[in-house]
Amino acid sequence: MILLQGKGVSKGIAEGPLYFLQKPDTTIVKETGKDVEAEKARIAEAKEKSAAQLMELAEKCRAEAGDDAAFVFETHAMFLDDDDYVVGINDCLESEQCNAEYAVRTAGDTFAAMFAAMDDAYMSARAADIKDITQRLLNNLMGVVEGGIDSDVPVILCADDLAPSETLQLDKSKILGFALQGGSGTSHTAILARTMGIPAICGLGDALTDEYNGRAGWIDAETGQIVLDPDEITLKGLEMKAKKQAELKELMQTMIGQEDVTLDGKKIKLYCNIGSPEDVSAVKTNDGRGIGLFRSEFLYLAADDYPTEDAQFEAYKAVAEAMDGARVIIRTLDIGADKQVDYFNMQKEENPALGVRAIRICLNRPEVFRTQLRALYRASAYGKVAIMFPMITSVWEVKECKRACAAVMKELDEEGIPYNADTELGIMIETPASVFMARDLAKEVDFFSVGTNDLTQYTLACDRQANDLGKFFDPHHPAVLRALKQAADAAHAEGIWIGICGELGADTELLPTFLAIGIDELSVSPASVLPLRAEIRKSIAGSCTLDALEGEFAN
Ligand code: PEP
Ligand code: MG
Repeated sequence: MILLQGKGVSKGIAEGPLYFLQKPDTTIVKETGKDVEAEKARIAEAKEKSAAQLMELAEKCRAEAGDDAAFVFETHAMFLDDDDYVVGINDCLESEQCNAEYAVRTAGDTFAAMFAAMDDAYMSARAADIKDITQRLLNNLMGVVEGGIDSDVPVILCADDLAPSETLQLDKSKILGFALQGGSGTSHTAILARTMGIPAICGLGDALTDEYNGRAGWIDAETGQIVLDPDEITLKGLEMKAKKQAELKELMQTMIGQEDVTLDGKKIKLYCNIGSPEDVSAVKTNDGRGIGLFRSEFLYLAADDYPTEDAQFEAYKAVAEAMDGARVIIRTLDIGADKQVDYFNMQKEENPALGVRAIRICLNRPEVFRTQLRALYRASAYGKVAIMFPMITSVWEVKECKRACAAVMKELDEEGIPYNADTELGIMIETPASVFMARDLAKEVDFFSVGTNDLTQYTLACDRQANDLGKFFDPHHPAVLRALKQAADAAHAEGIWIGICGELGADTELLPTFLAIGIDELSVSPASVLPLRAEIRKSIAGSCTLDALEGEFAN
Protein backbone atom coordinates (compact mmCIF):
# COMPACT_ATOMS: atom_id res chain seq x y z
CA MET A 1 0.00 0.00 0.00
CA ILE A 2 1.24 3.50 -0.84
CA LEU A 3 -0.02 6.49 1.15
CA LEU A 4 0.67 10.03 0.03
CA GLN A 5 -0.12 12.67 2.62
CA GLY A 6 -1.24 16.20 1.80
CA LYS A 7 -3.99 18.54 2.96
CA GLY A 8 -7.61 18.12 1.93
CA VAL A 9 -8.92 21.43 0.57
CA SER A 10 -12.19 20.34 -1.02
CA LYS A 11 -14.24 17.62 0.61
CA GLY A 12 -15.02 14.20 -0.81
CA ILE A 13 -13.73 10.80 -1.70
CA ALA A 14 -13.34 9.19 -5.12
CA GLU A 15 -11.69 6.25 -6.81
CA GLY A 16 -10.09 6.27 -10.24
CA PRO A 17 -6.84 6.28 -12.20
CA LEU A 18 -4.18 8.88 -11.41
CA TYR A 19 -3.50 11.07 -14.41
CA PHE A 20 -0.54 13.40 -14.54
CA LEU A 21 -1.30 16.53 -16.46
CA GLN A 22 1.22 17.05 -19.19
CA LYS A 23 1.72 20.74 -19.67
CA PRO A 24 2.45 20.88 -23.38
CA ASP A 25 5.40 22.76 -24.76
CA THR A 26 3.79 25.03 -27.31
CA THR A 27 6.86 27.05 -28.28
CA ILE A 28 7.10 27.28 -32.02
CA VAL A 29 10.47 27.03 -33.65
CA LYS A 30 10.92 27.96 -37.30
CA GLU A 31 12.14 25.08 -39.44
CA THR A 32 13.08 25.65 -43.09
CA GLY A 33 13.64 23.46 -46.15
CA LYS A 34 10.30 21.72 -45.60
CA ASP A 35 8.20 19.96 -48.22
CA VAL A 36 5.51 22.60 -48.83
CA GLU A 37 2.86 20.15 -50.06
CA ALA A 38 3.36 17.87 -47.07
CA GLU A 39 3.01 20.84 -44.71
CA LYS A 40 -0.15 21.94 -46.54
CA ALA A 41 -1.57 18.45 -46.07
CA ARG A 42 -0.84 18.64 -42.33
CA ILE A 43 -2.65 21.98 -42.17
CA ALA A 44 -5.64 20.56 -44.06
CA GLU A 45 -5.87 17.73 -41.54
CA ALA A 46 -5.59 20.11 -38.56
CA LYS A 47 -8.24 22.34 -40.11
CA GLU A 48 -10.63 19.46 -40.50
CA LYS A 49 -10.11 18.46 -36.88
CA SER A 50 -10.52 22.07 -35.70
CA ALA A 51 -13.76 22.51 -37.67
CA ALA A 52 -15.20 19.31 -36.19
CA GLN A 53 -14.27 20.44 -32.64
CA LEU A 54 -15.82 23.84 -33.22
CA MET A 55 -19.08 22.40 -34.52
CA GLU A 56 -19.22 20.10 -31.52
CA LEU A 57 -18.64 23.07 -29.20
CA ALA A 58 -21.32 25.04 -31.03
CA GLU A 59 -23.83 22.25 -30.46
CA LYS A 60 -22.93 21.96 -26.79
CA CYS A 61 -23.28 25.73 -26.43
CA ARG A 62 -26.60 25.80 -28.26
CA ALA A 63 -27.99 23.29 -25.79
CA GLU A 64 -26.59 25.11 -22.73
CA ALA A 65 -26.63 28.80 -23.62
CA GLY A 66 -28.62 29.35 -26.81
CA ASP A 67 -28.01 30.37 -30.40
CA ASP A 68 -25.96 33.52 -29.76
CA ALA A 69 -23.26 31.66 -27.87
CA ALA A 70 -23.22 28.86 -30.45
CA PHE A 71 -22.80 31.38 -33.24
CA VAL A 72 -19.36 32.37 -31.90
CA PHE A 73 -18.01 28.87 -32.55
CA GLU A 74 -19.76 28.55 -35.90
CA THR A 75 -18.12 31.80 -37.00
CA HIS A 76 -14.75 30.48 -35.84
CA ALA A 77 -15.29 27.36 -37.95
CA MET A 78 -16.11 29.49 -40.98
CA PHE A 79 -13.06 31.66 -40.48
CA LEU A 80 -10.82 28.61 -40.89
CA ASP A 81 -11.68 28.81 -44.62
CA ASP A 82 -11.41 32.57 -44.90
CA ASP A 83 -9.63 33.29 -48.22
CA ASP A 84 -7.22 35.90 -46.86
CA TYR A 85 -6.29 33.76 -43.86
CA VAL A 86 -5.67 30.69 -46.03
CA VAL A 87 -3.67 32.74 -48.59
CA GLY A 88 -1.67 34.28 -45.70
CA ILE A 89 -0.69 30.81 -44.43
CA ASN A 90 0.10 29.45 -47.90
CA ASP A 91 2.18 32.50 -48.86
CA CYS A 92 4.29 32.05 -45.76
CA LEU A 93 4.71 28.32 -46.43
CA GLU A 94 5.73 28.86 -50.04
CA SER A 95 8.01 31.84 -49.59
CA GLU A 96 9.81 30.47 -46.52
CA GLN A 97 9.49 26.72 -47.13
CA CYS A 98 8.86 26.55 -43.42
CA ASN A 99 7.00 24.22 -41.09
CA ALA A 100 3.19 24.43 -40.89
CA GLU A 101 3.25 25.63 -37.25
CA TYR A 102 5.43 28.62 -38.09
CA ALA A 103 3.25 29.60 -41.08
CA VAL A 104 0.03 29.37 -39.07
CA ARG A 105 1.48 31.35 -36.18
CA THR A 106 2.86 34.06 -38.52
CA ALA A 107 -0.36 34.45 -40.53
CA GLY A 108 -2.46 34.36 -37.35
CA ASP A 109 -0.37 37.05 -35.66
CA THR A 110 -0.50 39.27 -38.76
CA PHE A 111 -4.27 38.99 -39.01
CA ALA A 112 -4.84 39.51 -35.30
CA ALA A 113 -2.66 42.65 -35.36
CA MET A 114 -4.52 43.92 -38.45
CA PHE A 115 -7.89 43.53 -36.75
CA ALA A 116 -6.64 44.96 -33.44
CA ALA A 117 -5.57 48.14 -35.23
CA MET A 118 -9.02 48.78 -36.73
CA ASP A 119 -10.90 51.83 -35.47
CA ASP A 120 -14.23 50.07 -35.29
CA ALA A 121 -14.51 48.64 -31.75
CA TYR A 122 -16.40 45.56 -32.94
CA MET A 123 -13.83 44.72 -35.62
CA SER A 124 -10.84 45.32 -33.36
CA ALA A 125 -12.37 42.97 -30.80
CA ARG A 126 -12.28 40.21 -33.45
CA ALA A 127 -8.50 40.01 -32.92
CA ALA A 128 -9.22 37.80 -29.91
CA ASP A 129 -11.26 35.45 -32.11
CA ILE A 130 -8.44 35.14 -34.59
CA LYS A 131 -5.96 34.36 -31.84
CA ASP A 132 -8.33 31.71 -30.56
CA ILE A 133 -8.79 30.08 -33.97
CA THR A 134 -5.05 30.17 -34.63
CA GLN A 135 -4.33 28.57 -31.26
CA ARG A 136 -6.82 25.79 -31.96
CA LEU A 137 -5.21 25.12 -35.33
CA LEU A 138 -1.76 25.06 -33.71
CA ASN A 139 -2.94 22.72 -30.94
CA ASN A 140 -4.20 20.30 -33.55
CA LEU A 141 -0.99 20.56 -35.54
CA MET A 142 1.10 19.87 -32.45
CA GLY A 143 -1.16 17.20 -31.01
CA VAL A 144 -1.98 19.21 -27.90
CA VAL A 145 -5.10 17.76 -26.29
CA GLU A 146 -7.72 20.40 -25.61
CA GLY A 147 -8.80 20.37 -21.99
CA GLY A 148 -5.49 18.64 -21.24
CA ILE A 149 -6.92 15.22 -20.35
CA ASP A 150 -6.39 12.45 -22.88
CA SER A 151 -8.41 9.75 -21.15
CA ASP A 152 -11.70 8.03 -21.89
CA VAL A 153 -12.58 7.64 -18.22
CA PRO A 154 -12.68 10.29 -15.45
CA VAL A 155 -9.40 10.60 -13.57
CA ILE A 156 -7.78 11.89 -10.40
CA LEU A 157 -5.90 14.77 -11.92
CA CYS A 158 -2.33 15.17 -10.64
CA ALA A 159 -0.08 18.17 -11.22
CA ASP A 160 2.62 20.21 -9.54
CA ASP A 161 0.22 23.13 -9.27
CA LEU A 162 -2.46 24.63 -11.46
CA ALA A 163 -3.01 28.25 -12.37
CA PRO A 164 -6.68 29.24 -12.24
CA SER A 165 -6.71 29.70 -16.03
CA GLU A 166 -5.34 26.16 -16.51
CA THR A 167 -8.01 24.73 -14.22
CA LEU A 168 -10.69 26.57 -16.15
CA GLN A 169 -9.66 25.05 -19.44
CA LEU A 170 -9.85 21.49 -18.20
CA ASP A 171 -12.70 19.25 -19.23
CA LYS A 172 -14.44 19.03 -15.87
CA SER A 173 -16.51 16.00 -16.76
CA LYS A 174 -13.26 14.03 -16.74
CA ILE A 175 -12.09 15.05 -13.28
CA LEU A 176 -12.85 12.97 -10.17
CA GLY A 177 -10.51 14.97 -7.97
CA PHE A 178 -7.37 17.12 -7.86
CA ALA A 179 -4.06 15.98 -6.35
CA LEU A 180 -1.47 18.73 -6.28
CA GLN A 181 2.15 18.80 -5.17
CA GLY A 182 1.78 22.48 -4.24
CA GLY A 183 -1.23 24.75 -3.83
CA SER A 184 -3.11 25.85 -0.75
CA GLY A 185 -6.62 25.80 0.69
CA THR A 186 -7.46 29.33 -0.35
CA SER A 187 -5.78 29.15 -3.74
CA HIS A 188 -8.21 29.67 -6.56
CA THR A 189 -7.82 26.13 -7.82
CA ALA A 190 -9.03 24.87 -4.45
CA ILE A 191 -11.93 27.31 -4.65
CA LEU A 192 -12.81 26.02 -8.12
CA ALA A 193 -12.68 22.42 -6.87
CA ARG A 194 -15.15 23.32 -4.14
CA THR A 195 -17.41 25.02 -6.67
CA MET A 196 -17.30 21.87 -8.75
CA GLY A 197 -17.99 19.82 -5.63
CA ILE A 198 -15.09 17.44 -6.16
CA PRO A 199 -12.34 16.41 -3.73
CA ALA A 200 -8.96 18.15 -3.83
CA ILE A 201 -5.73 17.63 -1.95
CA CYS A 202 -2.81 20.02 -2.08
CA GLY A 203 0.68 20.04 -0.62
CA LEU A 204 1.47 16.42 -1.56
CA GLY A 205 5.04 17.45 -2.41
CA ASP A 206 7.52 15.30 -4.30
CA ALA A 207 5.93 12.10 -3.00
CA LEU A 208 3.39 12.58 -5.79
CA THR A 209 5.55 11.46 -8.70
CA ASP A 210 4.53 10.72 -12.26
CA GLU A 211 5.73 7.13 -11.72
CA TYR A 212 2.16 6.64 -10.50
CA ASN A 213 0.63 7.80 -13.76
CA GLY A 214 -2.19 5.46 -14.80
CA ARG A 215 -2.29 3.58 -11.49
CA ALA A 216 -5.69 3.06 -9.88
CA GLY A 217 -6.04 4.94 -6.60
CA TRP A 218 -8.26 6.68 -4.11
CA ILE A 219 -8.43 10.34 -3.20
CA ASP A 220 -9.69 10.95 0.33
CA ALA A 221 -9.82 14.67 1.02
CA GLU A 222 -10.99 14.13 4.58
CA THR A 223 -7.66 12.60 5.59
CA GLY A 224 -5.77 14.45 2.85
CA GLN A 225 -4.49 11.15 1.46
CA ILE A 226 -3.96 9.57 -1.92
CA VAL A 227 -4.00 5.80 -1.48
CA LEU A 228 -2.61 3.30 -3.98
CA ASP A 229 -2.98 -0.46 -3.60
CA PRO A 230 -4.88 -0.21 -0.30
CA ASP A 231 -4.64 -3.21 1.99
CA GLU A 232 -7.83 -4.99 2.83
CA ILE A 233 -8.70 -3.01 5.95
CA THR A 234 -7.94 0.36 4.37
CA LEU A 235 -9.95 -0.57 1.28
CA LYS A 236 -12.94 -1.47 3.43
CA GLY A 237 -12.63 1.88 5.23
CA LEU A 238 -12.46 3.80 1.95
CA GLU A 239 -15.42 1.96 0.47
CA MET A 240 -17.42 2.64 3.63
CA LYS A 241 -16.63 6.35 3.44
CA ALA A 242 -17.63 6.48 -0.24
CA LYS A 243 -20.90 4.77 0.64
CA LYS A 244 -21.52 7.25 3.50
CA GLN A 245 -20.79 10.13 1.14
CA ALA A 246 -23.41 8.84 -1.29
CA GLU A 247 -25.92 8.36 1.54
CA LEU A 248 -25.28 11.83 2.95
CA LYS A 249 -25.78 13.28 -0.52
CA GLU A 250 -29.13 11.56 -0.67
CA LEU A 251 -30.08 12.72 2.81
CA MET A 252 -29.21 16.28 1.90
CA GLN A 253 -31.73 16.14 -0.91
CA THR A 254 -34.39 16.46 1.80
CA MET A 255 -33.09 19.98 2.43
CA ILE A 256 -34.07 21.10 -1.06
CA GLY A 257 -36.91 23.58 -0.93
CA GLN A 258 -36.56 24.15 2.84
CA GLU A 259 -36.28 27.66 4.23
CA ASP A 260 -32.95 29.00 5.51
CA VAL A 261 -34.13 29.84 8.99
CA THR A 262 -33.00 28.99 12.51
CA LEU A 263 -35.29 27.35 15.05
CA ASP A 264 -35.96 30.76 16.61
CA GLY A 265 -36.79 32.40 13.31
CA LYS A 266 -33.58 34.16 12.20
CA LYS A 267 -33.53 34.08 8.40
CA ILE A 268 -30.23 33.78 6.56
CA LYS A 269 -29.68 34.48 2.89
CA LEU A 270 -27.92 31.34 1.65
CA TYR A 271 -26.24 32.20 -1.63
CA CYS A 272 -23.56 30.64 -3.84
CA ASN A 273 -20.14 31.53 -5.16
CA ILE A 274 -19.61 30.94 -8.87
CA GLY A 275 -16.89 31.59 -11.45
CA SER A 276 -18.81 31.25 -14.69
CA PRO A 277 -22.35 31.02 -16.10
CA GLU A 278 -21.90 27.23 -16.34
CA ASP A 279 -21.74 27.04 -12.53
CA VAL A 280 -25.37 28.17 -12.28
CA SER A 281 -26.55 24.63 -12.94
CA ALA A 282 -24.78 23.50 -9.72
CA VAL A 283 -26.44 26.41 -7.88
CA LYS A 284 -29.83 25.23 -9.11
CA THR A 285 -29.18 21.57 -8.28
CA ASN A 286 -28.15 22.54 -4.75
CA ASP A 287 -30.99 25.03 -4.33
CA GLY A 288 -28.84 28.12 -3.70
CA ARG A 289 -31.09 31.14 -3.21
CA GLY A 290 -28.97 33.63 -5.08
CA ILE A 291 -25.41 34.35 -6.19
CA GLY A 292 -23.41 36.03 -3.44
CA LEU A 293 -20.20 36.17 -5.43
CA PHE A 294 -19.69 35.80 -9.15
CA ARG A 295 -15.93 36.03 -9.55
CA SER A 296 -16.03 37.87 -12.87
CA GLU A 297 -12.27 37.66 -13.29
CA PHE A 298 -12.62 34.06 -14.42
CA LEU A 299 -14.07 35.41 -17.67
CA TYR A 300 -10.82 37.32 -18.13
CA LEU A 301 -8.68 34.37 -17.06
CA ALA A 302 -10.35 32.07 -19.56
CA ALA A 303 -9.77 34.46 -22.47
CA ASP A 304 -6.70 35.25 -24.56
CA ASP A 305 -7.56 38.90 -24.75
CA TYR A 306 -9.75 41.47 -22.98
CA PRO A 307 -13.30 40.10 -23.06
CA THR A 308 -15.47 42.53 -24.99
CA GLU A 309 -18.40 44.39 -23.50
CA ASP A 310 -20.79 42.18 -25.48
CA ALA A 311 -19.14 38.94 -24.39
CA GLN A 312 -19.31 40.04 -20.75
CA PHE A 313 -22.87 41.27 -21.11
CA GLU A 314 -23.93 37.87 -22.46
CA ALA A 315 -22.30 36.08 -19.53
CA TYR A 316 -23.81 38.36 -16.86
CA LYS A 317 -27.20 38.37 -18.55
CA ALA A 318 -27.18 34.56 -18.77
CA VAL A 319 -26.61 34.31 -14.99
CA ALA A 320 -29.15 37.04 -14.16
CA GLU A 321 -31.81 35.39 -16.31
CA ALA A 322 -31.05 31.88 -15.09
CA MET A 323 -31.40 33.04 -11.47
CA ASP A 324 -34.84 34.29 -12.31
CA GLY A 325 -35.14 37.40 -10.15
CA ALA A 326 -32.92 36.14 -7.30
CA ARG A 327 -30.05 38.43 -6.32
CA VAL A 328 -26.88 38.00 -8.40
CA ILE A 329 -23.87 39.80 -6.94
CA ILE A 330 -21.21 40.22 -9.56
CA ARG A 331 -17.80 41.25 -8.32
CA THR A 332 -15.82 43.49 -10.62
CA LEU A 333 -12.51 42.25 -11.92
CA ASP A 334 -10.25 40.95 -9.14
CA ILE A 335 -6.98 39.98 -10.80
CA GLY A 336 -3.40 40.41 -9.67
CA ALA A 337 -1.68 38.38 -6.94
CA ASP A 338 -2.23 34.70 -7.86
CA LYS A 339 -4.65 35.52 -10.70
CA GLN A 340 -2.37 36.75 -13.45
CA VAL A 341 -3.65 37.48 -16.94
CA ASP A 342 -0.92 37.75 -19.58
CA TYR A 343 -2.61 40.30 -21.81
CA PHE A 344 -2.84 42.81 -18.97
CA ASN A 345 0.96 43.05 -19.17
CA MET A 346 1.23 43.76 -15.47
CA GLN A 347 4.56 44.84 -14.08
CA LYS A 348 6.34 42.22 -12.03
CA GLU A 349 5.90 42.95 -8.33
CA GLU A 350 7.90 41.86 -5.31
CA ASN A 351 4.73 41.43 -3.25
CA PRO A 352 1.83 41.04 -5.66
CA ALA A 353 -0.72 40.44 -2.88
CA LEU A 354 0.11 43.94 -1.69
CA GLY A 355 0.42 45.36 -5.17
CA VAL A 356 -1.72 46.62 -7.98
CA ARG A 357 -4.59 44.14 -7.82
CA ALA A 358 -8.38 44.11 -7.90
CA ILE A 359 -10.01 47.55 -7.63
CA ARG A 360 -6.61 49.21 -7.94
CA ILE A 361 -6.28 47.90 -11.49
CA CYS A 362 -9.78 49.09 -12.38
CA LEU A 363 -9.19 52.56 -11.00
CA ASN A 364 -5.83 52.74 -12.80
CA ARG A 365 -7.33 51.54 -16.09
CA PRO A 366 -10.65 53.38 -16.50
CA GLU A 367 -11.31 51.91 -19.96
CA VAL A 368 -11.17 48.33 -18.67
CA PHE A 369 -13.44 49.32 -15.77
CA ARG A 370 -15.87 51.19 -18.01
CA THR A 371 -16.25 48.20 -20.36
CA GLN A 372 -17.09 45.93 -17.45
CA LEU A 373 -19.47 48.39 -15.81
CA ARG A 374 -21.32 48.93 -19.11
CA ALA A 375 -21.75 45.16 -19.45
CA LEU A 376 -22.94 44.91 -15.84
CA TYR A 377 -25.47 47.73 -16.08
CA ARG A 378 -26.78 46.39 -19.39
CA ALA A 379 -27.26 42.99 -17.72
CA SER A 380 -29.08 44.67 -14.81
CA ALA A 381 -32.13 45.00 -17.08
CA TYR A 382 -32.45 41.18 -17.11
CA GLY A 383 -32.52 40.27 -13.43
CA LYS A 384 -31.57 41.39 -9.92
CA VAL A 385 -27.93 42.22 -10.56
CA ALA A 386 -25.84 43.82 -7.81
CA ILE A 387 -22.28 45.07 -8.29
CA MET A 388 -19.52 44.50 -5.75
CA PHE A 389 -16.05 46.06 -5.59
CA PRO A 390 -13.09 44.04 -4.22
CA MET A 391 -10.07 44.99 -2.07
CA ILE A 392 -11.44 48.30 -0.87
CA THR A 393 -9.33 50.17 1.67
CA SER A 394 -10.58 53.76 1.43
CA VAL A 395 -13.74 55.79 1.09
CA TRP A 396 -12.35 57.70 -1.91
CA GLU A 397 -12.05 54.42 -3.84
CA VAL A 398 -15.74 53.73 -3.34
CA LYS A 399 -16.62 57.27 -4.35
CA GLU A 400 -14.55 56.85 -7.51
CA CYS A 401 -16.29 53.54 -8.27
CA LYS A 402 -19.65 55.23 -7.84
CA ARG A 403 -18.58 58.06 -10.15
CA ALA A 404 -17.60 55.48 -12.78
CA CYS A 405 -21.04 53.85 -12.38
CA ALA A 406 -22.81 57.19 -12.73
CA ALA A 407 -20.84 57.97 -15.91
CA VAL A 408 -21.78 54.60 -17.41
CA MET A 409 -25.46 55.08 -16.53
CA LYS A 410 -25.37 58.49 -18.23
CA GLU A 411 -23.89 56.91 -21.39
CA LEU A 412 -26.56 54.22 -21.43
CA ASP A 413 -29.27 56.86 -20.98
CA GLU A 414 -27.91 58.76 -23.96
CA GLU A 415 -27.79 55.59 -26.04
CA GLY A 416 -31.30 54.57 -24.99
CA ILE A 417 -30.05 51.26 -23.55
CA PRO A 418 -32.14 49.89 -20.67
CA TYR A 419 -30.64 49.22 -17.23
CA ASN A 420 -31.67 49.23 -13.60
CA ALA A 421 -30.79 52.62 -12.10
CA ASP A 422 -31.31 51.14 -8.60
CA THR A 423 -28.69 48.45 -9.05
CA GLU A 424 -27.33 47.74 -5.58
CA LEU A 425 -23.67 48.49 -4.97
CA GLY A 426 -21.60 46.71 -2.35
CA ILE A 427 -18.02 46.27 -1.31
CA MET A 428 -15.89 43.45 -0.09
CA ILE A 429 -14.53 43.74 3.40
CA GLU A 430 -11.23 41.95 3.02
CA THR A 431 -8.60 44.36 4.25
CA PRO A 432 -8.05 45.50 7.84
CA ALA A 433 -8.40 49.10 6.58
CA SER A 434 -11.93 48.40 5.38
CA VAL A 435 -12.79 47.02 8.82
CA PHE A 436 -11.47 50.13 10.57
CA MET A 437 -13.30 52.34 8.06
CA ALA A 438 -16.44 50.22 8.00
CA ARG A 439 -18.75 52.83 9.49
CA ASP A 440 -17.75 55.42 6.85
CA LEU A 441 -17.83 52.86 4.04
CA ALA A 442 -21.27 51.61 5.05
CA LYS A 443 -22.67 55.10 4.45
CA GLU A 444 -21.69 54.75 0.76
CA VAL A 445 -23.03 51.31 -0.19
CA ASP A 446 -25.99 48.93 0.03
CA PHE A 447 -24.20 45.90 1.47
CA PHE A 448 -20.93 44.44 2.70
CA SER A 449 -19.57 41.01 1.89
CA VAL A 450 -16.60 39.75 3.87
CA GLY A 451 -13.83 38.09 1.90
CA THR A 452 -12.42 35.99 4.72
CA ASN A 453 -9.70 34.49 2.52
CA ASP A 454 -8.03 37.84 2.04
CA LEU A 455 -9.14 39.21 5.40
CA THR A 456 -7.31 36.32 7.09
CA GLN A 457 -4.28 36.84 4.87
CA TYR A 458 -4.04 40.57 5.54
CA THR A 459 -5.06 40.50 9.21
CA LEU A 460 -2.64 37.74 10.18
CA ALA A 461 0.06 38.73 7.66
CA CYS A 462 -0.01 35.19 6.24
CA ASP A 463 0.25 34.48 2.51
CA ARG A 464 -2.95 32.63 1.54
CA GLN A 465 -1.04 30.84 -1.23
CA ALA A 466 1.60 29.34 1.02
CA ASN A 467 0.90 25.86 2.31
CA ASP A 468 3.65 25.77 4.90
CA LEU A 469 2.41 28.42 7.32
CA GLY A 470 0.65 25.75 9.33
CA LYS A 471 -0.97 26.99 12.52
CA PHE A 472 -0.03 30.60 11.80
CA PHE A 473 -2.70 30.74 9.09
CA ASP A 474 -5.79 30.36 11.23
CA PRO A 475 -9.07 31.74 9.88
CA HIS A 476 -10.62 31.00 13.31
CA HIS A 477 -8.17 33.43 14.93
CA PRO A 478 -10.05 35.80 17.29
CA ALA A 479 -8.54 38.74 15.38
CA VAL A 480 -10.34 37.64 12.22
CA LEU A 481 -13.59 37.02 14.07
CA ARG A 482 -13.40 40.34 15.91
CA ALA A 483 -12.81 42.08 12.57
CA LEU A 484 -15.93 40.35 11.31
CA LYS A 485 -17.96 41.59 14.28
CA GLN A 486 -16.62 45.12 13.96
CA ALA A 487 -17.66 45.21 10.29
CA ALA A 488 -21.08 43.71 11.09
CA ASP A 489 -21.75 46.22 13.86
CA ALA A 490 -20.83 49.09 11.53
CA ALA A 491 -23.02 47.71 8.73
CA HIS A 492 -26.02 47.31 11.02
CA ALA A 493 -25.51 50.73 12.62
CA GLU A 494 -25.80 52.21 9.14
CA GLY A 495 -28.76 50.02 8.21
CA ILE A 496 -27.14 47.78 5.58
CA TRP A 497 -26.77 44.00 5.49
CA ILE A 498 -23.53 42.04 5.70
CA GLY A 499 -22.58 38.63 4.36
CA ILE A 500 -19.56 36.38 4.12
CA CYS A 501 -18.39 35.14 0.73
CA GLY A 502 -14.96 33.86 1.75
CA GLU A 503 -14.40 30.16 2.36
CA LEU A 504 -15.07 30.56 6.09
CA GLY A 505 -18.75 31.08 5.34
CA ALA A 506 -19.14 27.32 4.79
CA ASP A 507 -17.40 26.42 8.05
CA THR A 508 -20.25 24.94 10.07
CA GLU A 509 -18.14 24.98 13.23
CA LEU A 510 -18.31 28.77 13.12
CA LEU A 511 -21.99 29.04 12.26
CA PRO A 512 -22.98 29.78 15.90
CA THR A 513 -20.39 32.59 15.94
CA PHE A 514 -21.74 34.04 12.69
CA LEU A 515 -25.26 33.90 14.10
CA ALA A 516 -24.14 35.59 17.32
CA ILE A 517 -22.40 38.30 15.30
CA GLY A 518 -25.58 38.79 13.26
CA ILE A 519 -24.28 37.88 9.81
CA ASP A 520 -27.19 38.18 7.36
CA GLU A 521 -25.91 36.23 4.38
CA LEU A 522 -23.58 33.31 3.71
CA SER A 523 -22.33 32.73 0.20
CA VAL A 524 -20.67 29.35 -0.27
CA SER A 525 -19.75 26.85 -2.97
CA PRO A 526 -22.89 25.15 -4.35
CA ALA A 527 -21.92 21.81 -2.78
CA SER A 528 -21.93 23.43 0.70
CA VAL A 529 -25.47 24.84 0.50
CA LEU A 530 -27.48 21.83 1.67
CA PRO A 531 -25.20 20.80 4.58
CA LEU A 532 -25.15 24.44 5.73
CA ARG A 533 -28.93 24.68 5.44
CA ALA A 534 -29.24 21.58 7.61
CA GLU A 535 -27.04 23.26 10.27
CA ILE A 536 -28.90 26.57 10.11
CA ARG A 537 -32.21 24.81 10.60
CA LYS A 538 -30.86 23.06 13.72
CA SER A 539 -29.51 26.28 15.29
CA ILE A 540 -30.98 28.69 17.82
CA ALA A 541 -29.56 32.10 16.96
CA GLY A 542 -30.60 33.61 20.30
CA SER A 543 -28.51 31.17 22.29
CA CYS A 544 -25.34 31.53 20.18
CA THR A 545 -22.42 33.20 21.93
CA LEU A 546 -19.39 35.25 20.99
CA ASP A 547 -17.06 32.91 22.90
CA ALA A 548 -14.88 32.28 19.83
CA LEU A 549 -13.93 35.97 19.81
CA GLU A 550 -12.49 35.62 23.29
CA GLY A 551 -10.63 32.38 22.64
CA GLU A 552 -6.87 32.27 22.86
CA PHE A 553 -4.97 31.25 19.76
CA ALA A 554 -4.18 27.51 19.73
CA ASN A 555 -6.45 26.94 22.71
C1 PEP B 1 -11.94 36.40 -0.28
O1 PEP B 1 -10.88 37.02 -0.32
O2 PEP B 1 -12.36 35.82 0.75
C2 PEP B 1 -12.80 36.31 -1.47
C3 PEP B 1 -14.03 35.85 -1.41
O3 PEP B 1 -12.28 36.68 -2.66
P1 PEP B 1 -11.15 35.83 -3.44
O4 PEP B 1 -11.00 34.52 -2.73
O5 PEP B 1 -11.62 35.67 -4.83
O6 PEP B 1 -9.96 36.71 -3.31
MG1 MG C 1 -10.47 38.31 -1.98
